[in-house]
Amino acid sequence: MRLSLQNETHKTLFYILIAFSFSVAMRLIWVAHFSGYEPFYFNGQFMINTNDGYYWAEGARDLLFGTATNPNATEYFDKLHQPFDLSPVDTAAAQLTAFFAKILPFSFESIIFYMPVFLSSLVVIPIVLIAKTLKNLEMGLIAALLASIAWSYYNRTMAGYYDTDMLNIVLPMFLLWSLIWALQTQKDIYLFITAVDILIYRWWYPQSYALESSFFGLILLYTLIFDRKNLFSYKLLTIMMFAMMNIDGVYRFGAVVVVYAVFVSKKAEKYIFYIFALSVVAYFFSGGFNPIFGKLKAYVFKDSVKTMEEGLKLHFFTVMQTVREAGKIPFETFANRISGNTITFIVSLGGYLYLAYKHRVMLLALPMVGLGFLAYVGGLRFTIYAVPILAFGIAYLIVEIARIMPTQKLKVLSMVAFALMILYPNYKHIEAYKVPTVFSADEVKVLDGLHHIASREDYVVSWWDYGYPIRYYADVKTLIDGGKHNGSVNFPVSFLLTHPQDVAAKMARLDVEYTEKSFVFKEKYKQEIKDKNITLFSTIEQMTKDAGFDDTNDFLLSLESGDMVLPQKTRDIYLYLPYRMLDILPTVVLFSNLDLMSGKQGKQPFMFVSHRAKESKSSLDLGRGVVLDKKTMVLHIGESKVKIKRLITTAYNKKMELEKKIQVIDPKSNISLIYMSNYNTFVVLDETLYNSTYIQLMILENYDAKLYEPVILTPRVKVYKLKI
Ligand code: MN
Repeated sequence: MRLSLQNETHKTLFYILIAFSFSVAMRLIWVAHFSGYEPFYFNGQFMINTNDGYYWAEGARDLLFGTATNPNATEYFDKLHQPFDLSPVDTAAAQLTAFFAKILPFSFESIIFYMPVFLSSLVVIPIVLIAKTLKNLEMGLIAALLASIAWSYYNRTMAGYYDTDMLNIVLPMFLLWSLIWALQTQKDIYLFITAVDILIYRWWYPQSYALESSFFGLILLYTLIFDRKNLFSYKLLTIMMFAMMNIDGVYRFGAVVVVYAVFVSKKAEKYIFYIFALSVVAYFFSGGFNPIFGKLKAYVFKDSVKTMEEGLKLHFFTVMQTVREAGKIPFETFANRISGNTITFIVSLGGYLYLAYKHRVMLLALPMVGLGFLAYVGGLRFTIYAVPILAFGIAYLIVEIARIMPTQKLKVLSMVAFALMILYPNYKHIEAYKVPTVFSADEVKVLDGLHHIASREDYVVSWWDYGYPIRYYADVKTLIDGGKHNGSVNFPVSFLLTHPQDVAAKMARLDVEYTEKSFVFKEKYKQEIKDKNITLFSTIEQMTKDAGFDDTNDFLLSLESGDMVLPQKTRDIYLYLPYRMLDILPTVVLFSNLDLMSGKQGKQPFMFVSHRAKESKSSLDLGRGVVLDKKTMVLHIGESKVKIKRLITTAYNKKMELEKKIQVIDPKSNISLIYMSNYNTFVVLDETLYNSTYIQLMILENYDAKLYEPVILTPRVKVYKLKI
């Protein structure tokens, strides 16, 4: 067999291969740039650059190696991982990763780093195949080249961006392709392919029902208006409905196979409408509409949120309050993220409309465009959905322009020229987009060390940003993480990091034991909690109640007294304190600096961190209007002046031990200045934060030896073990 571009199948394969290689190559630019850069490596491979990736990685790790030791498996769980450790072993991303790691001869670290590169590049296949149906393969090639590397798609699927995004566009594009081919060819086999597409897509991304139902709705509408007599459309709708039911994938697959067999046998031709009706009923009773109703209810009945009658009605700080108001994004950002350039975007949009006008079947892509455009109001991450569809738009116009060129040479030339033009801004973006890995090698070394010290049932307490990586590298449990960080779970952690060491130690012990206890309780009374729609107490609420208080403030105050009775210790607790947390400490404070009874925010403690100070003979300029007069030791903060209480200088000696020089200047003052000489960092802070566990343990190594035992002390991270 000889490869010939005259042969349509060969040409299709050839174009897919070109686009796929191009997509992979573009993703290797980052790899080439940081090749050999040690801080980004662990175990001889690049680390990943998305925090959430460590979540899937933990699940995959447990699927592969989890069985080794697990004496703690309980009646509720298998032996793969610890009860209540939140390891996502039953998610598709973890399962697929474990599968690849099993069959491929590469390290686990390499697998997770390169999975997005290769999986996301698969998007070129449905793009070229859709174009093939429209007898326009060149459009497919150009669209595939653009879509595979367009700004937002690249950002969310680059090397190391190990997250579900790597298939989140690939799978609906395959679905779109099979729907288009089903409608165009009216061949039974595409009924089955469509159903399987839906099964895989739902397995990978449970929220996929939104797009699936939109596709379904469009086909239903089209059928009812234009094609009411066509039995094939009802077959398609029926099999989609069965594939979309809200029951376990295995049963849905069974249902799909049965329905398909019935359709193929042609015996049921007379009963199609009954089977269709049956599928709708099955969908309804399996709860297929529930997610949609749930969403509607949340929007329409916003204030019907249930509160516990007998609860303390505590008010917690929410993460949303710290995130910039999710307002409208600038049009230019929106356009860039979809097409790489504002002009490309506008032309693409026109091109898509023209394409849909010429080929009605492309209207089926509307839900993806719609979802992409949601980004304009609902958040940047949605833009990727519109990327491949708008790429079709501009690619179609480019091919149309080439068609009116007089000679073959000019046709090819114009296509190449225009294709390069639309690719260029996206290439420039890739070249400039040099995101770092989530953790640095130094930090991961600490976690890897901790992995050998801590048991898998122990807790490592830290801010939620570090939760997933901690769990992945150290194989321990955490209180909060990238998916568990609402106000009530953040409160105790924020409290202990920003309060003095003794109350912090008590709170750590309390919250860990209460967290475990509440997991056990929830598991034991699962059914009742669900049936009666019971809202459980937060750990802090339960602690307050158990200590005999009706006011959390009284309870928190009682922590300071010596006669506080702590729950029985069931495991070890470690505090993980990274240097990088210094910059977010003011945010961490917010979550516990409020009166839980009234919701009233406390006065924000003062803190200012400077990484580039300018020193002159007489003064030290810390930036943002904060200047120290070196002679008088008076700190100018904007308009106000304050003499500093202490000046502390920290430095590491040759043995890498931290040495401190403390100079008390004005004992009556409330503001101290810490100079961390090895970090070139200055910290200005008030007494509240100066006495906080984070500052005392991480910055100054002033630990209370009755409460804490240093385990690993490095300049980047310090780990202490709780002694109570
Ligand atoms: Mn575990």
